[in-house]
Amino acid sequence: MSQETLSIAGFDVSPHHYIGGQRVASGELFELHCPIDQSLLGRISEGTPAHVDAAIVAAQAAYPAWSALTAAERKPYLDRFAAEIGKRADAFCQLESNDAGILLSRMKHGVIPRAMLNITWFAEHALTLQDRPLETEQATHIVRHDPAGVVVIITPWNSPLMLATWKLGPALAAGNTVIIKPPEWAPLTSSLLADCAHAAGLPAGVLNIVQGSGAGTGARLVSDPRLARISFTGSVPTAKWIAQAAGANLVPCSLELGGKSPFIVLKDADIDNAAATGALMYRNAGQVCLAGTRFLVHSNIRDRFVAAMRAYVEKLNIGDPRDEAIEIGPIIHPRQVERVKGFVARALADGAELLWGGKPHPFGAQYFEPTMLTNLRQDSEIVQNEVFGPVLTLQTFDSDAQAIAMANGTDYGLGGVCYGETTHATAIAEQVRTGFIWVNSFGIRDLAAPFGGIKRSGIGREGGDWSFEFFCDVKDVVVPKKPFRASFSHR
Ligand code: NAD
Repeated sequence: MSQETLSIAGFDVSPHHYIGGQRVASGELFELHCPIDQSLLGRISEGTPAHVDAAIVAAQAAYPAWSALTAAERKPYLDRFAAEIGKRADAFCQLESNDAGILLSRMKHGVIPRAMLNITWFAEHALTLQDRPLETEQATHIVRHDPAGVVVIITPWNSPLMLATWKLGPALAAGNTVIIKPPEWAPLTSSLLADCAHAAGLPAGVLNIVQGSGAGTGARLVSDPRLARISFTGSVPTAKWIAQAAGANLVPCSLELGGKSPFIVLKDADIDNAAATGALMYRNAGQVCLAGTRFLVHSNIRDRFVAAMRAYVEKLNIGDPRDEAIEIGPIIHPRQVERVKGFVARALADGAELLWGGKPHPFGAQYFEPTMLTNLRQDSEIVQNEVFGPVLTLQTFDSDAQAIAMANGTDYGLGGVCYGETTHATAIAEQVRTGFIWVNSFGIRDLAAPFGGIKRSGIGREGGDWSFEFFCDVKDVVVPKKPFRASFSHR
């Protein structure tokens, strides 16, 4: 039996889809468990082919009126939408802490303000896009950014609210109508976004939420030829599947995928600062796409760096993410725990050595110790593949050229971190083949800046104008400056 509403930590949330401005229940349900203590949080409506079809029909129906508004006319809706997120901040924090295991403190101080800004910033930025004139000798080019149509947004479980709003803001501000397919292991905050849309008066069908599994609901959705865009964040294998389905219909996709980013520590680095930042790579139990997970440390400073980072790691507070003093929470799902254990066991069998960690953590069944492995080859499985858990690797180098070669020696190219004297570190960072890299810092992100990966880490960029380039059809209206008279000799 499906319930009308779930109550989690004292906050109500609907377990149902949101289609055409209405809550829609499904006869098919899936169970949602809390990663902290494995308790059953509720049964969630699973999207059937009929729900997928209804959402696309609703989004298509809402498109003409929503896309006909100017960016200035859409902005008040989006500002109200963001304000509704703010009004429900406590509910968003508790729900995402309970279903995804995200730190409550991070939700409060980082994710909620960012989720609101993801909506208001892009609503504001959309004002700058309308009818940008481009003057050439022959003509005025009115470069328009027209909304593309019905957009599907598919998000992963490691940061559901942040990622949904980061795509939703520009998609809606540009004038598209949207269907979100949230992650099946952490769908609750997307459901709450539907309440925000409703309360903000977004016209029915402008935002739709269809929940369900990737292989079922997700696959059905991305195979539909009525879509104008698919914006996906998730793993490489899923991206390959989606790209093929979208390719069959020539639907453009943006793909933000996994990473195996280098964390380079040069011999002139501030070792203590680098080590403090290094410990941050265990944030969200290492389930962070942009973390620097491959430590490449100059051999002259290796022992000092290891000792400094060990001291920071030993102080990490591991436990229940709903306690604001806690710094590391659980791994999302028992399957993910098995994946992490498997990577560590195979690495050790292959000759790797533990610098610290390596075992399940006693706090609970879905907890694993912050782990650092060393004595690895560049072609070791754990050096080449994303673990997506609290497991890092450490290798050493003797020259800048070697550091750059090792940094570039995987199929991934999402992020990176480089610690060293600033000019030196910047020069090395410029030679790492990646979508972005932080010099003597980590995690600085501005909505105006491009974000995305190269190689297996993705196709496309999000942020600033780049989000609008993807979510819009860019059109050039060419108005000649001199009277134009047709002629076959005209070039
Ligand atoms: P995943 O690929 O398994 O799932 C992501 C989403 O895709 C989920 O909503 C899932 O239901 C859906 N999905 C699965 N199969 C599908 C299909 N055939 N058709 C349509 N949808 C389908 O990824 P995950 O395990 O949820 O997330 C972890 C991955 O996401 C990691 O690789 C991580 O690096 C990556 N990630 C990347 C970024 C980035 O910005 N580059 C950010 C966060 C996470």
